Amino acid sequence: MKKTPFITKEKAEEIIKAGHPTPFHIYDEKGIRENARRVNKAFSWNKGYREYFAVKALPNPFIMDILKEEGCGVDCSSMAELKLSDACGFSGHEIMFSSNDTPLEEFSYCASLGGIINIDDLTQVKKVESVLGGFPETVCCRFNPGGIYEVSNGIMDNPGDAKYGMTEEQIIEAYKYLKSKGVKTFGLHAFLVSNTVSNDYYPELSKTLFKLAVKIKEEAGVSLSFINLSGGVGIPYKPSDTPNDIAIIGEGVHKVFDEILVPNGLSDISIFTEMGRFMTGPYGALVTTAINEKHIYKEYIGVDACAANLMRPAMYGAYHHITVLGKEDAPCDHKYDVTGSLCENNDKFAIDRELPKIDMGDILYIHDTGAHGFAMGYNYNGRLWSEEVLLHENGSFDTIRRAETLKDYFATFDCFPVYKKLFPEG
Ligand SMILES: *Cc1c(COP(=O)(O)O)cnc(C)c1O
Repeated sequence: MKKTPFITKEKAEEIIKAGHPTPFHIYDEKGIRENARRVNKAFSWNKGYREYFAVKALPNPFIMDILKEEGCGVDCSSMAELKLSDACGFSGHEIMFSSNDTPLEEFSYCASLGGIINIDDLTQVKKVESVLGGFPETVCCRFNPGGIYEVSNGIMDNPGDAKYGMTEEQIIEAYKYLKSKGVKTFGLHAFLVSNTVSNDYYPELSKTLFKLAVKIKEEAGVSLSFINLSGGVGIPYKPSDTPNDIAIIGEGVHKVFDEILVPNGLSDISIFTEMGRFMTGPYGALVTTAINEKHIYKEYIGVDACAANLMRPAMYGAYHHITVLGKEDAPCDHKYDVTGSLCENNDKFAIDRELPKIDMGDILYIHDTGAHGFAMGYNYNGRLWSEEVLLHENGSFDTIRRAETLKDYFATFDCFPVYKKLFPEG
């Protein structure tokens, strides 16, 4: 499918002129809202359904507010994400805490908010109990089936190699123990495959988890209250990808629900999801300007963003589509590596990419940075975090996080004399 930017060149220029220099990430409020409504509609057959937005994908309070208005909860994985969620007004069971290798104080903090703790490991069950002085009324456990997990058309991942979750034996033991300690409501969670561009992943995963739910009922005497399908629903990063249809996914889960849970007396189970990428990924873009060109053994276009602003290509070799704004319909008759400034040869947003001829000053729109984009930023080479801009439904726009300054970057030296040398004015 042709990938179309949600802003035009004219809009980008208007935003830059209004005091938002490149590089910046921009998010499309309209796209986020419409998608969230499609998600809620797709699962509306399930009474207790809730999407818990995976905060780590885009930890920005303005985005979280939008999703809150659309009825979403939040899925947190750290103290900072719990604090941010609390500050955004999420509370109680609107918060899931799906972390791993978890510091104990984070369990305590989650419990103080009334959030749902998702226990990742059997050894943490008793740790949670001792740090909280008992269990909350509701507890969730995370499952890992091991081995290779295969969805249709070759999509698969390797849970046997993943650090998350408990084995089947362990999870049943965990439920028995939790029950003996007075826990009243129970959840089951698993995240087995990432970025699935397939309508079959959630239904397949549901099959695995619903069968396990029946087993848990039989062997531990626990009737689950909710099953959390977690994240992993993908987006079409490449023009050749077929986008997922969330309505078909929701119906697929519905069918398996009716086949497995209903006949086993488990029809009250609520379905939860905690998607990140699918909720915001396509509705964000990194806007950057071509500032250098270099002609050596290959043709290079240097831009003012770098991997510190978007790490996925450098880290995973991930494909992010690039549109040269204003040249949407120009022939892609040039081949470039599009690079950032880091002293790392993997700092390339694209390698051997066929693009229209790029002139200095052209604005490049790097697609699908709305999840795990800005959020994965870092400061290598002293590069600073960019601004985040929100494009509202009426076409107006606002800063929703200012760009980092050198002062921010050096702030952790503020108790040392060097800070005074850097900022004598204070
Ligand atoms: C990252 C993560 C998610 C979100 O994953 P996406 O692929 O962005 O949908 C959900 N749950 C947990 C526990 C995660 O770690």
